[in-house]
Amino acid sequence: MSCIFCRIVKGEIPAEVVARESDVVAFLDVQPLADGHVLVVPQAHAAAIEDLEPVAADALFRTVTRLAGPVREALGAAGTTIGINNGDATGQTIPHVHVHIVPRWPDDGAGSVHTIFPRKTSRALSDVGKAIRKAAGS
Ligand code: 5GP
Ligand code: ZN
Repeated sequence: MSCIFCRIVKGEIPAEVVARESDVVAFLDVQPLADGHVLVVPQAHAAAIEDLEPVAADALFRTVTRLAGPVREALGAAGTTIGINNGDATGQTIPHVHVHIVPRWPDDGAGSVHTIFPRKTSRALSDVGKAIRKAAGS
């Protein structure tokens, strides 16, 4: 098996594990963006969030929700930025779904999620909404 996060889940590669639950493992990022940078991963391999089984998605978000407060408190942080790089084009480097929880402080020099994007848009909200509702069957 070549997936590095599957190997961490199985204990074949060492990691600083902070939570191990029935469907989810959380461990420290080996190259942290800030002290307390945690990765939360489903135990079952899935490359993209769209590939997650509903039960795995539920468990993943439950663990993220459960850990957000303790991570913030343990590091004395003011908040956390929580995000997923979902697909090659987004900068995802490990093709096993993982949620980043990164502690934040008021003057830490990092931006919000909005700062990732140059805000290039061309379509009306109504057109985009219609297209997404059609694709989602909603
Ligand atoms: P991505 O860019 O795919 O969203 O994030 C992958 C993250 O995994 C990176 O922040 C990287 O530092 C982390 N990472 C890569 N290899 C390992 C590893 O072997 N162990 C741990 N703990 N983290 C890793
Ligand atoms: Zn995997």
